[in-house]
Amino acid sequence: MGTSRSIFAFALFLTLPIGARGRDDPAAKKPTTLEKVTVLRLPHTSGLVPVYYSAGFEARALKYQKTLIACQHWYDKQVGKHVDFTLAVLNKADWEKSTDDAYPMPSSYSTPPPIVILPARFEDFPDSADFTDNVELLVENISCHELGHIYASKLGMESEDAFLAELYANLFMVSFVRNRRPDMLSFLQGPSAKLPPERYTSMEDLQYLVGDVGMINYGWFQFQIYRLADLLLKDKALPKLLSELKSTFHDPTQRPFRYVAAQLETMRPGLAKEMGPLWQPTTLPDTQAQSCRDAPGSGKDSDLVVVNTSLKSVKVTSGKDAPVAIASNSWYTFSGHSGAFVRTDTGVCFIFGNEPSVARIPAK
Ligand SMILES: [Zn+2]
Repeated sequence: MGTSRSIFAFALFLTLPIGARGRDDPAAKKPTTLEKVTVLRLPHTSGLVPVYYSAGFEARALKYQKTLIACQHWYDKQVGKHVDFTLAVLNKADWEKSTDDAYPMPSSYSTPPPIVILPARFEDFPDSADFTDNVELLVENISCHELGHIYASKLGMESEDAFLAELYANLFMVSFVRNRRPDMLSFLQGPSAKLPPERYTSMEDLQYLVGDVGMINYGWFQFQIYRLADLLLKDKALPKLLSELKSTFHDPTQRPFRYVAAQLETMRPGLAKEMGPLWQPTTLPDTQAQSCRDAPGSGKDSDLVVVNTSLKSVKVTSGKDAPVAIASNSWYTFSGHSGAFVRTDTGVCFIFGNEPSVARIPAK
């Protein structure tokens, strides 16, 4: 599902022209995820979608492979493009040798050669039994979401906005389920009622924090986006919806959630009402400007979201990192430690709290 905020760096990497990855470029020698999987010498099966799997998981691997071939066929037909990719179904040990993504969060890489990575045991996902009583069916479902990311990338729909990126992947998956897999329809109704109330409940929270909302809360958000994707697809076929979204959200600057929500509302009037609390403003508390020095704090990992509501771009520096330019009407999430501060080029500072918070640069 992709929980890492490293998508920023990832997107940057994608913009490198092919020629830049020359023979003398050390970056060219970095093994791809597929290469890391193949050196493990795992059992594997060829076919329309080659699959590598950890010992003991052949049956699951073949089941997921079969589903992915069906998704691929559906996506090809919808968008008129074909992407070859590989599937890896990995236990924790093999996973950790192949990717930095946290086990057992399903994952995918769109950069050639594309690959979908699924956990051999979704039972290892925290509270997995509260998400579903059929883990294999859910992983089949998520595999189509992961392939959705790869097809979205093929269409030039990579987004640095995590909420939009997840929506695009889910539109592919929901279109497949609605047309080919009635046994998965129950997943489109939202998160299971067995899950406890979650800390983060606004889509704006997800946009700011991505995987830092925690694995269970992240899974809960995914089911909410399934529901959203299903609503959007009620009025329009997948290809038309994708092309509308592509032209609506072509601006690479990350916009605040209320702007994204307003655009979606024009595409499906009444959406805000249907999404309810998910469409409410962020539940993250505001933090006020303070003096520019470290404050007492626990030192634990935390996030500070800087929202620039002023008319000018603002440069913000966290610790020894290079300054980040935050455009007008945009935002950026800094990761740091409770008690540390960020400094704006207007001479104002904000401190990382014990919990994630929002620093607002006023309109003036
Ligand atoms: Zn995803």
